[in-house]
Amino acid sequence: MRAFAYERPTDLDEAVALLAEHGPRARVLAGGTDLIIRLRDGSIRAEVVVDLKRIAELDGSIRDDGGRLSIGARTVMTAIGADPRIGRDFQALAEAAAVVGSTQIRNRATLAGNVCNASPAADTVPALLIHGADVVAVGPAGRRRIPSDEFFVRSGVTVLGPDELVCAIELPRPTIREGSVHVRRTRRRGHDLASVTLACVVGADGVTRLAYGSLGPRPLLVTDEDGLLADPAASDAAKMQRLAALFVGASPSARSMRAGPEYRLAMLHVLGLRAVREAIARLALRSGSR
Ligand SMILES: Cc1cc2nc3c(=O)[nH]c(=O)nc-3n(C[C@H](O)[C@H](O)[C@H](O)COP(=O)(O)OP(=O)(O)OC[C@H]3O[C@@H](n4cnc5c(N)ncnc54)[C@H](O)[C@@H]3O)c2cc1C
Repeated sequence: MRAFAYERPTDLDEAVALLAEHGPRARVLAGGTDLIIRLRDGSIRAEVVVDLKRIAELDGSIRDDGGRLSIGARTVMTAIGADPRIGRDFQALAEAAAVVGSTQIRNRATLAGNVCNASPAADTVPALLIHGADVVAVGPAGRRRIPSDEFFVRSGVTVLGPDELVCAIELPRPTIREGSVHVRRTRRRGHDLASVTLACVVGADGVTRLAYGSLGPRPLLVTDEDGLLADPAASDAAKMQRLAALFVGASPSARSMRAGPEYRLAMLHVLGLRAVREAIARLALRSGSR
């Protein structure tokens, strides 16, 4: 590993000042489960690494903020998978967090790190997209809130400036009954990145949102507004046809070592239909529970 300076600021202003001073030559360190590997293999070079772990404003808590859940930049996957509020209102996110890597990885890996790493296969991102999450960034000009669907550009690239860091991810509490689910396809059991990762939410208003990753340069969000997918009486054939129209933006790479493009596309449709079924079933279970 090439040498780099290591900084451990204790407040946000100091962290932002370091990023502003060093620009793209600085890298933020959260859990380090992606960053350390990439510093070691040389695919990322940094002059300075800014560790967030001592910043008091960035604790690992999950706060209820007037209709929104705010997940701090140091919150790890284990905490997200175990939080009862997330399990109840954002089940797809709880499920996605619970399948990231292994127990050891989940105890260190943060949600913000998963988002900022911007892997097209990031497991939590489809769930954040369907649940309408915002990414809260802080930089020299102050804070800004970025809708998750506008945050990702392509693999490894987001709209975050080199002098900005993510301080929280916010989720609006649902105002209607919803059923949501996360599903994925991997090459093998155990820890592996997904060949297809997908989340789906069906609302009591008949709107279905699906988001999927690992099938192009960034995860994509699609919406079925007219109630066909949410209709338990509609045929599988009609739903498959609708899913095919919704998934038209999928563009799996032919160069990936994980699975061929034809297989990924086929699995996207299969998982999409399964996810819709499961989300409808979960929505039905919640009838009368709110
Ligand atoms: C064995 C193994 C298995 C894995 N399995 C999975 C899996 O199943 N699914 C999956 O999605 N991922 C998986 N990962 C990837 C990784 O664990 C996740 O992406 C994790 O959430 C990254 O979080 P972190 O806190 O470790 O981020 P870091 O490694 O600390 O950072 C990742 C990137 O984000 C930037 N960053 C981090 N926090 C911030 C912030 N607050 N503001 C701005 N930039 C920031 C860093 O500079 C870096 O570029 C796996 C990794 C390993 C090593």
